[in-house]
Amino acid sequence: ETPKAPNFIRNQVLEEIAGGQVERIVTRFPPEPNGFLHIGHAKSICLNFGLAEETGGQCHLRFDDTNPAKEEQAYIDAIKEDVHWLGFEWAGPVRFASDYFDQLYAWAQHLVREGKAYVDDLSPDEIRDYRGTLTEPGTPSPYRERGVEENLDLLERMRQGEFAEGGRVLRAKIDMASSNINLRDPILYRIRHATHHQTGDKWHIYPSYDFTHGQSDAVEGVTHSLCTLEFEDHRPLYNWFLDNLPVPARPRQTEFARLNLNYTLTSKRKLKLLVDEGFVDGWDDPRMPTISGMRRRGYTPASIRKFCDMVGVSRSDSGLVDIAMLTHAIRSDLEDNAPRAMCVLRPLKVVLTNVAEDFEETYSVAGHPARDDMAVRRVPLTRELYIDHHDFMEEPPKKFFRLAPGKEVRLRNSYVIRCDEVIKDAAGEIAELRCSVDFDTLGKNPEGRKVKGVLHWVSAVHGIPMEVRLYDNLFTVEQPDRDKDADFLEHLNPESLVTCRAIGEPSLAEATPESRFQFERVGYFCADRHASTPEHLVFNRTVGLKDTWAK
Ligand code: ATP
Ligand code: MG
Ligand code: MG
Repeated sequence: ETPKAPNFIRNQVLEEIAGGQVERIVTRFPPEPNGFLHIGHAKSICLNFGLAEETGGQCHLRFDDTNPAKEEQAYIDAIKEDVHWLGFEWAGPVRFASDYFDQLYAWAQHLVREGKAYVDDLSPDEIRDYRGTLTEPGTPSPYRERGVEENLDLLERMRQGEFAEGGRVLRAKIDMASSNINLRDPILYRIRHATHHQTGDKWHIYPSYDFTHGQSDAVEGVTHSLCTLEFEDHRPLYNWFLDNLPVPARPRQTEFARLNLNYTLTSKRKLKLLVDEGFVDGWDDPRMPTISGMRRRGYTPASIRKFCDMVGVSRSDSGLVDIAMLTHAIRSDLEDNAPRAMCVLRPLKVVLTNVAEDFEETYSVAGHPARDDMAVRRVPLTRELYIDHHDFMEEPPKKFFRLAPGKEVRLRNSYVIRCDEVIKDAAGEIAELRCSVDFDTLGKNPEGRKVKGVLHWVSAVHGIPMEVRLYDNLFTVEQPDRDKDADFLEHLNPESLVTCRAIGEPSLAEATPESRFQFERVGYFCADRHASTPEHLVFNRTVGLKDTWAK
């Protein structure tokens, strides 16, 4: 484990622990189960779970499930799996804000009894109009001065399901002239005749985010409630509820900057649209910035945690992070840990003319140049083999160190060969190359000349046909959703997925789903979790070899 990078929240927590203000911290990660987690959530997960882990505290997983219409059990399951996969364990059971619905309702009644909440009959549109603007104070609702008994009765009948959706709401009675619009009598409960994934048909009213979050934190004994900056203006309201309710603890909200990555969307709503409209193959499509998509793409949990550490945590908007930083994190992990193999993406047949028909030699090759703990590969050479089409040019420019007519290259781990003849098919396309072997070049330089090019290759007899999926960014522009009025779908990259019928070396037959390799000279690849089988191997390109991250 690398040491944790300092950040203002961590500094504050360490100081509080050192100063004895807090003994053990309690944090929580509170996703709404209305989609899959994305790389932005990973930042929040690493912060909340990481701080608890580092300081001997605990972190809860709490589903913020107050909007049954948009939530699903499938999302709950996926979120739990993603948190575990990232390497974190929540303290105690999985929690749900809906576990506290009875308590929240009792606290709503408490506010009514104290004259601090009222049932409002205005329509949603009227409530918006009455609320005023940044420059204009709001106007009190005509129902604001309702008596306690009438409010309690209406609230109870709302709960029983007597009224239509949108017919009434419960609001806190705070300050319609506040400069903070969140304090202009915020909504505590809305009527929703929906079946909830946890509570079934028990409730006809559902609490708002603001009325739920801080009190759930308090019930759970959360000490540090860490959320993103858009909730900064909600903090006075968060504290108002804690001040005005008999809560068992006093959590504190601290905000930090959201993660935004270039060429990437980090909004569940927009990612859901890509899924629903079929622009991608589900939430875990390897092009998606979801944790499960990145997993399928070949990212490791360690690389995502490392990336979050590199990004850091700041208290002000930190702009766009370069996706090259993310690819750097996985590339350096795989550089150190992925076994090597040869795989030809666009096979071009090569026939060795000066060997016997049944010629065969097998080389023992290191699984990884710096790791003798990795299995040695057995790599066979036969009379017919494949190289990549991109490694041959009939009329090469200067400094083309690959194969061309009359030119020599080394087959990686094997001999130097020379291209003597180019065979074309009826359409004039290159069909195969006839080459001769210089047998005096195995493990040594050729006599009297320099051969610069080294090509990867695969035996035509022993090579394994496989499907290789070359993934690229989903979007062609850095901020696909920058222009709020335009459609981000216009920036979809039409070449975000290119499929190859590739041929890989025999050692790849052993590849199990999610095993990762460096295909030499090509990039890093991962056997697809779902599609890859021993009969039909499917590899996803995780990242290319070249690191473009500028430190
Ligand atoms: P989205 O806008 O994608 O729906 P959200 O904030 O509504 O995101 P939640 O499920 O409520 O999604 O998020 C759970 C936690 O993850 C919250 O504490 C939230 O602040 C945090 N989070 C979400 N997106 C990011 C992000 N891009 N960077 C950092 N933290 C994030
Ligand atoms: Mg949210
Ligand atoms: Mg959201």
